Amino acid sequence: MLREYCTDLHIHTCLSPCADLDLSPREIVERAKKECLDIIAITDHNTAQNVRVVMRLGEQRGLKVIPGMEVQTREEIHLLTLFPDWPSTAAWDEEVYRHLPPVRNDPEIFGDQPVVDEEGNIVKFEERMLLNSLDLSLEEVKHRVEEHGGLTIPSHFNKGSFSLISQLGLIPEDLELEALEMSRQSKLREQMGIAATSLSIPKIISSDAHRLEDIGSAHTVFLLAEASLIELRLAFRGLEGRRITKKIDSGMTIL
Ligand SMILES: [Zn+2]
Ligand SMILES: [Zn+2]
Repeated sequence: MLREYCTDLHIHTCLSPCADLDLSPREIVERAKKECLDIIAITDHNTAQNVRVVMRLGEQRGLKVIPGMEVQTREEIHLLTLFPDWPSTAAWDEEVYRHLPPVRNDPEIFGDQPVVDEEGNIVKFEERMLLNSLDLSLEEVKHRVEEHGGLTIPSHFNKGSFSLISQLGLIPEDLELEALEMSRQSKLREQMGIAATSLSIPKIISSDAHRLEDIGSAHTVFLLAEASLIELRLAFRGLEGRRITKKIDSGMTIL
């Protein structure tokens, strides 16, 4: 039987240098439950080292946590990469690390990058700067993610920076994208409205949470049979009754 699932598929943890340090795995899961989300995705910049802990806590609390990562391509485009399970994510994490420039993070300038356990204790600090471009192109990332069974969704595709539109000025048709994440900046959304609605590619909206209170503030509602990446894929393809039913940003339903 199909039912509605509330999803926020773009959430950072404390490991992202630009995110708040109180974004610990437990706080994220509790906040998502409070916001009545059914599915979240954890998407730190160029790393998945905090993902498994959130998945474990999500399992205990009845919250589906899709493992993922927000990568930055050579063209400085941000992409959400989502995976069906932990092993495929771990394999992708290793691959990404090999393509991340060996530049040391300066916590004074960019912020700390803590890997934490279930209690939020710091296990280690990631020393390589995570806010950087991989030496992989947009096409290469999409192809490699597919090889791992994953799904690529361009982040905030119509934002003024680090997006498909800001970096390329267009949405390459030959990429055969399954979905796009809309930017939350409403002004930009209006400017891009015509182009965006004329596209047949399904669009989601998510919080891109860098603070605890951001979680769920923008979310997409799907009609699904269960909480899984396979079901999300069916919804993007509009198959077997699965589909996106609503997109909500700051309490307002948007197109
Ligand atoms: Zn981004
Ligand atoms: Zn982000």
